[in-house]
Amino acid sequence: MAPGGANPSPILEVSRLYLILGNSIAAISAVEALRKVDPNGSITIVAKEGEPAYSPVLTPYYIAGELPRERLYLRKKSFYREHKVELICNDGAAKVFTDRKEVLLESGVLLKYDRLLIATGGRPRPAAFPGAALKGVFVLRSLLDAANIRNYALGKRDAVILGGGPISMRSAWALRKLDIRISLVISSNRLLSRLVDEEVSLRLEEALLRDGGYRIYKNCDLLAARGKEKVESVELNNGESIPAQLIVVGKGVIANKELVEGTEIATANGILTDERMETNSPGVFAAGDVTQAYDRVRKKNMVNAIWPAAFAQGKVAGLNMAGASATFTGTVPMNVIEVGGVSLATIGVRTDKTVSMRAGNALKKIYLGENKITGAVFLDDLRGIGLLHTLIRNEVPLDRLPSPQRLLENIEYCRLLRIFSRKAG
Ligand SMILES: Cc1cc2nc3c(=O)[nH]c(=O)nc-3n(C[C@H](O)[C@H](O)[C@H](O)COP(=O)(O)OP(=O)(O)OC[C@H]3O[C@@H](n4cnc5c(N)ncnc54)[C@H](O)[C@@H]3O)c2cc1C
Repeated sequence: MAPGGANPSPILEVSRLYLILGNSIAAISAVEALRKVDPNGSITIVAKEGEPAYSPVLTPYYIAGELPRERLYLRKKSFYREHKVELICNDGAAKVFTDRKEVLLESGVLLKYDRLLIATGGRPRPAAFPGAALKGVFVLRSLLDAANIRNYALGKRDAVILGGGPISMRSAWALRKLDIRISLVISSNRLLSRLVDEEVSLRLEEALLRDGGYRIYKNCDLLAARGKEKVESVELNNGESIPAQLIVVGKGVIANKELVEGTEIATANGILTDERMETNSPGVFAAGDVTQAYDRVRKKNMVNAIWPAAFAQGKVAGLNMAGASATFTGTVPMNVIEVGGVSLATIGVRTDKTVSMRAGNALKKIYLGENKITGAVFLDDLRGIGLLHTLIRNEVPLDRLPSPQRLLENIEYCRLLRIFSRKAG
């Protein structure tokens, strides 16, 4: 009996309501982690699209005809049932109300939550030029975008790709595989200007020109797309008009974070999270491209819209939502791009202090900081990039390594010996 003679109230095993907004890799990874800790809580995923979760990373291969659509799906159809997830498709989350722990969907439905994960990713900056509404103007983000591009592109001859970033390069690669001639229209004076240095841009440009199917318009902008109903040509601000039956606009990505406007949840370029992937609103987590989380190399929160980050962040968020204790140790920025018959991998950040190695068309470069490697770029020969990733991620001191030049020249050998774990000598 409890003091005063009253019966003790029974401990109620109330199952938690987990609500996940978005249905891509961050969400899937969160569900898998969460279910390991809490087999019984109720999980609902709200998905704007009508598809089971798929990989945007693979959409260029689908456009190129190198992968069938089925291969893009992340998990088997039974995933949601097996993980006891209620999937609400074709409905988007419109607004989060943290004070009453509710989310309003675009359909008007209100959903309650005990723990909320925002994993709504990003969207392409929309096309904004006269003629942008013509048939044949696309962005590439979703599987639907990819299917639309592929269907439209088959049999076409000329495409304009607007922008010189990673998504533009991937779009160009995919369309080139369909034997379409590519005109890259970039407002800067070089390709991938945010990602690589001038030398690497130049080498990449040379590779594209060797391919024969690319023209590159630098320091250029698209003034208008011309055509009756469909795109037939584009007009550039250098006075040129170039034939094009389709345009893919790759002018950057915006985080889908508007749904937290009006709440206390802190945002900058993305939703800000701590090392638990929790926002400043207790019980509300965020993961993936919508998030501005810790960047291990830059030592501050950044939007790093890459797959491995979304996966890792989703996992940490899922564990913490379920009551476990997990820490996100930070993203190492990384990109791998195939274009013009070459592969390019970039890791970390650039500095002015570089060490390079060239062999034929291949170029390997590492960027040095205070007694550590901060970044690397490998072009045309990616062997050893994994070792560089480890060295950058773990901030292995340079004085524990062979000289950077020796490291680059013997990277395969170093990798095999895991030479970085010993003193050079
Ligand atoms: C063409 C392309 C190629 C890429 N290649 C690479 C690569 O080679 N390597 C790499 O590391 N990364 C690559 N990426 C980036 C990678 O795909 C993303 O980092 C990753 O998909 C992010 O996962 P996410 O779960 O955060 O969100 P996303 O994959 O962006 O998915 C978010 C989901 O949320 C849904 N959603 C949006 N708003 C709402 C809402 N309000 N309510 C409900 N649902 C909503 C969306 O429909 C979408 O399904 C590529 C991206 C693209 C587009």
